[in-house]
Amino acid sequence: MLRIVEMFWTFQGEGSHAGRRALFVRMPFCNLSCSWCDTSFNHYTKISEEEFLFFAQQEPTRFAVLTGGEPMLNKQSPRVVELLRGLGFEIATETNGTAAIIDGLSFVTVSPKRDAQYKIHADAALKANEIKVVVDEGFDFQVLKDIQEQDWTRNVRLSLSPEFGNFKNSIPMIEQFIKENPRWRVSLQTHKWIGVR
Ligand code: SF4
Repeated sequence: MLRIVEMFWTFQGEGSHAGRRALFVRMPFCNLSCSWCDTSFNHYTKISEEEFLFFAQQEPTRFAVLTGGEPMLNKQSPRVVELLRGLGFEIATETNGTAAIIDGLSFVTVSPKRDAQYKIHADAALKANEIKVVVDEGFDFQVLKDIQEQDWTRNVRLSLSPEFGNFKNSIPMIEQFIKENPRWRVSLQTHKWIGVR
């Protein structure tokens, strides 16, 4: 049996794949406790692999987002990836970057968190396609300069995501920062604007 918080079909609302239809698979457990976290990652349901596969084939899209919680720390994530790849899925993930990246993923979004002092595990830094930093209340923009100055081995996309509940306060500061640091871009949570999950 697989332990999963939830799985659902929706649109990917943010980042490089924004606008794509996607199967979201949310895994239990996280090692951090961000103040604005909106995920009940300690509650899960058990489903059989047959039920998982049935749900994953309800739509013709073969793009999935493995998220959590912290999916890189969940022991069942490799099996979930294996099942999805068996169906031909392209799999993106979103991780807080505190752990090594599991195999089989085609796109890695690392979202370092204040709760971990914005530290990024060496393997996550190596495999990241996108760095997405949430600009929350009291955010210190200095941490972005530290991230920007890391010796990235690939052309990583650097994004700033205003915390949805703090949007009006953070947008002017984000605009000012990006004016001066054009390698960064703003990443909106468009799924919240259009009212889907
Ligand atoms: S890392 Fe993500 S899942 Fe974990 S507490 Fe922070 S926002 Fe929630």
